[in-house]
This record gives sequence, C-alpha cells and structure tokens, in this order.
Amino acid sequence: MGLALLLLLLGLLSLGRPSTAVPLQQEQAPVVISFPGELVSQRSDVELATHYLQHFGYLKESEISGGGGQVTLASALKKMQQRLGLKETGQLDSPTLDAMRAPRCGVPDVGSFQTFQGDLKWDHTDITYQVLNYSPDLDASIIEDAFQRAFKVWSDVTPLTFTRKERGKVDIEIRFGTEEHGDGYPFDGKDGLLAHAFPPGKDRFSGDAHFDDDESWTLGTGSVVKTYYGNANGALCHFPYIFEGKSYSTCTTDGRSDGLPWCATTASFDQDKTYGFCPSELLYTFDGNSDGAKCVFPFVFEGKSYDGCTTEGRTDGYRWCATTDNFDQDKKYGFCPTRDTAVFGGNSPGEECVFPFTFLRQTYSACTSEGRSDGKLWCATTSDYDTDKKWGFCPDKGYSLFLVAAHEFGHSLGLEHSSIQDALMYPMYRYVADFHLHSDDVAGIQFLYGSGTGPSPPTRRPDVPTRRPNVPTQRPDVPTQRPDVPTQTTTEADDTSTSGEDGSVTESTPVEPTSDACKVQGFDAVTQIKKELYLFKNGQYWKKPAAGMGPIKGPLRIQDTWPALPDVVDAAFQDKLTKKLFFFSGQRFWVYQGTRVLGPRSIEKLGISRDVPKIFGVLQKGRGKALLFHEDKYWRLDAKAERVDQGYPKRTDDVFSGVPLDSQNIFLYQGKYHFCRNPFCWRMTPQYQVDKVGYLKYDILECPEQ
Ligand SMILES: [Zn+2]
Ligand SMILES: [Zn+2]
Repeated sequence: MGLALLLLLLGLLSLGRPSTAVPLQQEQAPVVISFPGELVSQRSDVELATHYLQHFGYLKESEISGGGGQVTLASALKKMQQRLGLKETGQLDSPTLDAMRAPRCGVPDVGSFQTFQGDLKWDHTDITYQVLNYSPDLDASIIEDAFQRAFKVWSDVTPLTFTRKERGKVDIEIRFGTEEHGDGYPFDGKDGLLAHAFPPGKDRFSGDAHFDDDESWTLGTGSVVKTYYGNANGALCHFPYIFEGKSYSTCTTDGRSDGLPWCATTASFDQDKTYGFCPSELLYTFDGNSDGAKCVFPFVFEGKSYDGCTTEGRTDGYRWCATTDNFDQDKKYGFCPTRDTAVFGGNSPGEECVFPFTFLRQTYSACTSEGRSDGKLWCATTSDYDTDKKWGFCPDKGYSLFLVAAHEFGHSLGLEHSSIQDALMYPMYRYVADFHLHSDDVAGIQFLYGSGTGPSPPTRRPDVPTRRPNVPTQRPDVPTQRPDVPTQTTTEADDTSTSGEDGSVTESTPVEPTSDACKVQGFDAVTQIKKELYLFKNGQYWKKPAAGMGPIKGPLRIQDTWPALPDVVDAAFQDKLTKKLFFFSGQRFWVYQGTRVLGPRSIEKLGISRDVPKIFGVLQKGRGKALLFHEDKYWRLDAKAERVDQGYPKRTDDVFSGVPLDSQNIFLYQGKYHFCRNPFCWRMTPQYQVDKVGYLKYDILECPEQ
C-alpha cells in the first residue's frame, strides 16, 4: 500500500506540469488503489468474514462483543460451511472466502428479516403481484417476461396462480432500488447482494421482492438489447455483428451523423441489412410522466441548464431528463434507459466509458483491471481519472433477472435457503442456461402448498426472452410511476446554529391536488418540521407554511417522501439536535436521517412498556429531548440515545393541567404546546398555562370559514 500511495501522490503532484514526465516505467509491481464510491473493497478478510457471518445470521452481535473471539468465529464459520455445503474446517480458508465474495441473495441463511409476523405461507392460492418500477438495464417487456417466467417456475408445480395487477393492493410488490431503498435492508453497490425478498404475511413488506439496481441486469450472458424502429421489428441486437467489414459487440454510432446508437440484428449487417436502434435517451424515456417521450437537451432544472441525463435532485441515483426544454415550468420528465455501453456501479453508473482515459498518468483505450486486486474491468467516465476520479465497472455478463427472480419469489412464497448447491434456493448466484427446478425446491414448495392439480411437468425453457411479434414503436403504458419525481426542495432550517443535509426533508409533487386539508376530519398526526406544520392522514400529508407564507401544500404521498412508513402515522417529530425524524405507528417506530431509515422497531426498544398500544403525540423539549404522550402518561426521550430517561413515565396532568388527556394530536407549534381533540386545540405556554382554546382548522390551519 505504501508503494500505491506513493505512486498516487506522484501522479497527483505531476498534474500541474504535464510536460515533465516522471519516469515510472521501471515500477512493475501492481498498483492497487481505493476507488471512490466503492463500499466493500477495502475490508480485511476477518472484517469481511465477521460482516458476512453477522449479516446472514451465523453470528450475533452479542457474540462478537461478548468475547470468545476465535472460538466464536470458528464455530460460526463451521455453521456457515455446513449450511452452504462447503468443507467444515472452521477456518477462513480460500473456498470459504470465495463463497463470501460471491454474488448472492441478501436474505439471511439463519433466521430471517425482522418481521412482526411471518405467516410462512399465503392463505390463498391466487397470488397477485405488481411491478412498481423498471430497471434501466432492460426493456420493460423483457423485465415483465422474466418475472412472468419466474412465477411460472413455481406455478408449474403447485396449485398457485400468479396474476399481475397494475394497481390496487397486491401480495407481492416488485421493485428495483439501490443501497438504502426504504426498508432498512440496504443493498451494497455492484455485485455482492443482488436482491432480497420478504416472507408471506401481513406486514408492510411481506412477500415483496427487491432487486439491486447497481447490478447489470441481463438474462445472464451479457447485455440484452432490444431494438426500436429500424427494420427488424424490435428484435434483439446480435452481438457480435459485422458492419463494413468490422466486428462490433456493442451498439455503435458508426455510420450515422445523428449520434443515435444502433446495432444489427443478425450476424452480418453487410449481408442481411437488418438493424434497429438501441436504447438511448435520444429515442425515449421510461416511467416518469411523459409517456416515454425522448429527452430534450438542453433542459432547465432548478435554474440550471443540462445537456445530458442527470441524477441531480434525486437521492436514488437514477438518471433522468426533462422531456421539454424547461422542467421548472413543465415538470415533464422520464428516466433514461441504460445504454449497452454504460458502466455499472462505481461513482457514475449509467455514464459511458470515455476512451482514451488517463489513469495514474497512463493512457487506456479499453477497460482495464489495473489498480484493482479483484481483476474486475473498469473504465473512467471522463478522459482523466486522475483529476476527475469518475469511474464504473465495464459491462459484463450481468445477472439473469429470470434466475434471481425465480429464487426471490421462492422467498416471497415462504421458502428459506437450501444448502443443496444445485437447488434454486441455494443462496449463491450461479448461471445455468437450461434451468429446471431441483427436487429439493419442488419438495419445499409442495410441502407448503401441495402439488398442482393439472398436468405439471416443469417446462424447461432456455433463459431467453420471448420475442414479441410486431413490436410497436411506442412503449406500452407503464403501469406505475416511480415513487418520486425529481423535484426535491429542501426547506431551510429555522435553527441557524445547526446546519447539515441530514435533516433535510424532500418531497414530491402532489398526487391529488383536489383533496383539501380543510375538509379532513381529524388528522392522524401533526408536527412542526422546520417552519412548516405537517399534517398526516391515511397515507397522505399536507404542509402548512408559516402564517402569511402561502397556502397549505398537498396532499403529498407519505410513501413518496418516507417510503418505509405505513399509511397511518400516530405521531412524528424532528429532533433539533440530531435532525433525526421520528415516526410512530402503533407499537412501532422509524427514524429517518435524510433518506436513511432505521425501522420499524418496537417502542419497547426505547424503554416504553409493552402494554402501551401507541404514542398519541410528541412535544420537543429543547435540543435532543422530546416528550412522548400516551393518555395520562408521558416519557422523556433522549433522541440521540434513542432511549427514555430514568424516572419516566410521569403523570400528564401533574404538569400539563387543563388539557384533555385523550388528545389525538399533541405537538409543538410556534413555540407553544398544542393538545388537540377534534375539532378543538388547547394551546399552552412553555410555563404550562393554557392561553387559548380554538379550532385546529380555523385558528391553526387558517381554513376559510364555511
Ligand atoms: Zn435467497
Ligand atoms: Zn429491500
């Protein structure tokens, strides 16, 4: 590492004077550097092992901190080796390390996700699912087809049926996401964790399957590129193909002056002349609100001009563009498809390699594994890595969406991991061209649901998409829009002594502009965040700016802003010290810090006794403390420690006398305590004097009187 650092420094030092080259050619030792934006590469073997064993349920946190060191690790390793069908050595040997580095499912091997009730199986056989969003890597029709085939794997051997619904409540919600994507089980960038799914049940995420969109999703053998327009009826690109005597294994803009990438759909364009255009934002976008219209460049977003797709304004890393020349005005947008030449992971996913590029002052005109110890190919996405440090992994075979989905749907139906390496439910990814369900998988699913009634030999199908005849040039209607649109406004902190991004609140455009906060009969929760009053009701929320600062905004969807939350929120507050946002619903609570979320956890974890069914409201008490109310009791919470203080609960009416003990909404607003029982609010000074009783609607929300 010393050498690596020195070389890096030499590289950096010489940037200012490009003409004087430092002779480096005698240094032949491989240089390994740390790439920005990479999460896991710098772990030592023991760190990797500890993390792995912990994450997948072989090792409990208490066992690590509780001493025992080597002994504990060895026994956890043995457990893991046994479970994954490896030789049980209890050592961190190379087959074990290889297994730990292999791409796999994120569901724990021992135990499962923290869920409140796992019913293990569905109580009905007509299972419904919805595809909430699409990966930019594949055409929507190919994604839908992969999911449909993955469900068929299971319906072929059981009485289960699977029906895709475009809206309404479904059993299995399918979505793509990156890193922390709303459920407290973050993905980890390219490779490593590929996907996860929750077991059947009645919880918020029960049955849902999530796919890591930092992966390159393919059908397992390299990019699958569906064409548009041209003369090939939407056929897939044929790689490699010959054009003017030259061989191509990606889409190209050669032979065109308009910059549109294209490919041949047979082995030789020169001979067959069949071709189509490749996915490009110059041709279309997906999801969003523009019906697949193409990007318009340049476009204006928050007063700035953009010449290409951008991730600005979003926290999930998806690239988008406006479909008119002014997003600020028209609010029309769509997501950019991934070009087959785009990079994955790194710190600029979706961008393209720029050749040649400089890296440690050498010039590269192809992807390289220089600088890495894992041999993975990467490239820079600007012409100068040394200055810009922008990079990503080069396209590879990718992961078969069909195979990974078939595995995840096994979890969605109640199956756990298998230790048989040929079984579909084995946790590690392995590509097979001729997939069929292993007898272990069949036994598992038939134990839960019985065997199919009709003829049920599992149909063996190669992992190729069904080509749809006569593909229209317009994309089919996308059933659901992505949960959030790229208009993120950050409200200013009212407390100027603290700054930082963590407390920022982002939101999306209203869903039903006709729905009026003034017509709502009682809110689930009310709280002041920064200077605005937030009012929650059944999946929606409104924001009331400070007096004279404009009308009430909303309704907005709770799920768009805080995807992990349930529809009904009993209480919420933002701590001034840590900027953490706490949400309570029943006996559960969630903590948001920026877009990161922890939860749901039980309020018992805060030190509140199990017989308290819910929190009615919260009053912030200075910085770092808050009072949580339940009828005649209240607790003082230390927001940083996430624990209630000693000596609580106390009796509400000992301090807060003259307010109703059955208040549904309790909140701090404009420096005063408010206890509201529909339709009235009791206002109390910090000296605990009730100084006004008024209407929530007219006195606080300033609704027009009817
Ligand atoms: Zn799994
Ligand atoms: Zn997830």
